[in-house]
Order: sequence, then structure tokens, then C-alpha cells
Amino acid sequence: MDKLLIIEDSFLIRKVIKHIATERLDCEFEFAENFAQAKEMLGHNDYFLALCDLHLPDAPNGEVIEYALSKGLPTIVLTATINEELRDRILTNGVLDYIYKENRDSYITAINLINQLIRNRKITVLVADDSRAIRSYTATQVKKLLYNVVEAEDGEQALQIIESNENIGLLITDYNMPKLNGIELIRRIRQKYSREDFPIIGLSSTSDPTVSARFIKHGANDFLMTPFIQEEFQWRVLTVVDQVMMIAKIQDAANRDYLTNLYNRRHFFSKATAAYQQAMADNLRLNVCLLDIDLFKNINDTFGHDVGDCVLIELAKKINHWLKGMTVARYGGEEFVMLIPDLDRQRASELLEAFRQDIEQSTFNKAGKQVKCTVSIGVADELTEATTIEEMINNADVALYEAKKRGRNQIKWYRQS
Ligand code: GH3
Ligand code: MG
Ligand code: MG
Repeated sequence: MDKLLIIEDSFLIRKVIKHIATERLDCEFEFAENFAQAKEMLGHNDYFLALCDLHLPDAPNGEVIEYALSKGLPTIVLTATINEELRDRILTNGVLDYIYKENRDSYITAINLINQLIRNRKITVLVADDSRAIRSYTATQVKKLLYNVVEAEDGEQALQIIESNENIGLLITDYNMPKLNGIELIRRIRQKYSREDFPIIGLSSTSDPTVSARFIKHGANDFLMTPFIQEEFQWRVLTVVDQVMMIAKIQDAANRDYLTNLYNRRHFFSKATAAYQQAMADNLRLNVCLLDIDLFKNINDTFGHDVGDCVLIELAKKINHWLKGMTVARYGGEEFVMLIPDLDRQRASELLEAFRQDIEQSTFNKAGKQVKCTVSIGVADELTEATTIEEMINNADVALYEAKKRGRNQIKWYRQS
């Protein structure tokens, strides 16, 4: 279902697209070289999208596009020339968009657009408008971009849908609506979600020029006057969603350690502080564990730094495997920190012991070298002994020091005799 059909007669262009798609495209793709072949392939396969050349030797007037659309296949057109009349004809026909065949960059734009469309299929857009006709037109434009769509008749209904449906990834809202207007709706949403968390586009047909400014001021990511032209609407929607995703990606990258992809120390503290306060408030257990690889310097000295890096990466995978869903992070160098919530000492010990034994028995392979390692772990679990998460970590560190002193490759609890 995730296959793209590319219909293009020029060998050279196929070659360029193939190169770019192999590098960048997030789905499988196949080529048809002419209309006849495209028809044959469409009869036997399930494609989710077609990228079509407008002029083919056996379909000189865009017949292939009409054929693809008649099969209900979303279609992007590739064309070397475009004029007003052709542009209107293509877009009113139901074509998703058109891309100029100019240079390599045009095909990169096409592939990027297709990647966005693939992502869009997992995103739901809420369209809020009291006019059924405009709502339905807007929803159709959004569906063309392969988003899922839900509709609301007024601001209040929109708010309810957002509260009860976590999958809404974008709101497109009209200004004038009964019960709650678009700007009031945005104010309410922004009490909980920022521009970076939840994108909103405002729409309005009003001649009042202050509406666009008020929309943006009160938290809309973008604004469009209605009636809008399809192309502008679609690219603004794509851009707004893409920006929010990009910010989320950058934020996530800033929270992670580049080598192991675990959370870094800074982000760990923001998560751990909240976890500590929650555990105190609810009177729940919280085990704070510090892990340090034993004699790691020897591994670097014997096998090289790159092999040492590989051990860190593999160990991080094992931490993720054994402590699935728990807050874990790279604390520094060859030290890791892990929070085990809700388990008593007995059960936390069993889990950590199974994990420790797994490491002891594992062999890490890198560049033909086989490396073994062990770890020491210190744990602090008495919430009342410490008044902050930092103090708990200090206590775990005392226990870790004890584990090292007693011969490494073991787990020690704080104040365990
Ligand atoms: P102990 O059992 O007492 O912990 O001995 P150790 O050798 O593990 O401890 P030590 O603190 O002497 O050495 C830690 C080493 O970890 C030294 C440092 O070069 C290495 N290290 C820290 N970060 C990295 C990294 O990102 N990659 C690699 N390959 N090595 C690292
Ligand atoms: Mg160390
Ligand atoms: Mg060490």
C-alpha cells in the first residue's frame, strides 16, 4: 500500500529521480515508462500515489493523469511548461500539485512533498467552521494532502474534540463561529498547548484587516483569507505542520546524547525531578541507579576508542531493552543513570541482577574484535533519606563506589551492609 508509481518517459529524468528517491524517499517506488505500461501496472498493483509526467509519447495531452485520477489515485504532475490555463485545468481536475521539471532541485522538492504526504496519512486535521459549504471545501483540500480529517461546527465542539482526541495534529479554524469564535478558541487551546506543540491556522472572509493580526497575536501559527487558492492553502498547511515537526525533532536531538541516543544528563534531570516529586506526592517507590562500566579505560587502551564507543552503544541498547519505558540516560563518559519506579527492593534487585548477568555473558563485536565487559551498579531507594533527586543520585554514587571497592561486577544498595 505504501508504493509510489512514477510515470516518466525520459530515461535521463528517471535516472535522476531514481537516484534521489533511493537516497531520500520513505517508501518503495516503481517506474512506468509510458501510458500503456502505467495502465498495466495500475491494474495489478496497489499504489498510494502517482508522480506523473504531463506529456508522454502515447498520452500527449495528459491522458495518463485523468486515468490515474479516475482510479482514485492521488496524483502529482511533473511538467516542463505551465501556463495559467493549464495550471487551472490541472488543479481543478483534482491533481494534488504540480512540480516544474527544471533541475535536480525540482525532483528533490517532489520527493520531499511525497515524504510529507506519507507522514500526513498518520495525522488528523480538525477543521472548525460553522458554514457547512466552506467546512466541506476546506476538508476536501486537506484530504487531498492525505491527512485524516474531522470537522467541528463551532468553537466549543472543536475544543471538545481536541480534549478527547490526542491524534489531532493541526487545527484550521474560522473566525466567526457561534458559541466560541476562532480567536477565543485559540486562546483556550494556548492555555495548554504552545505554538510548538500544536499548530493552528486561522481562516476568515471578513474584511476587517485586524483579524489576521489578532489571530497571530493570540497564538495562530498562520492565517489565510477565504476564499483561498488551493496551492497557497496546501503549501501553508504543509509548511506549518513541517515546522512544528522540525522543532520537535530539534528539541528531541537537544535532549539526547549523540553517541548512544539515550537522554543526556540535562534532560534526565528535568524528567527525574518530576518523577521524584510525583513519587513523594503519591508515596510511591523510586529506585535511582548509577551504572559504571568496569575498567573501561582498559577496553579503550586494548581495542581502541572506536571499539569503546561501540560498547557504549550496545550497552545503551541493553539498558533500553531491560528497563523498557523507564527514564534512563547517559550520565557522562561510561556512566549511566536509570530510574526504576514502583518496584520494591526485591523486584528491582532481580531486574538489575538479570540485566547485570546479561552484560557479563554478552560479547560485543566490532571490526572483528570481540570484547567482553562488566558493570557495577549503585542504587538508592529511600526517598525519605534524601530531599532531592540530586541527593538520591549522590547516595547511589556512594553505593556505586562501594560496589567498585568490593571487586566490581556487582550491585550495591545505599546503606546495605
Ligand atoms: P572503573 O572500573 O574504576 O570505573 O575503571 P574505568 O577504567 O572504567 O574508569 P576510568 O574513570 O579510569 O576511565 C573511564 C574511561 O572512559 C576513560 C575515558 O577515556 C573513557 N570514556 C569516556 N567517554 C568515552 C566515550 O565517549 N568513548 C570512549 N570510547 N571512551 C570514553
Ligand atoms: Mg567512571
Ligand atoms: Mg568505569
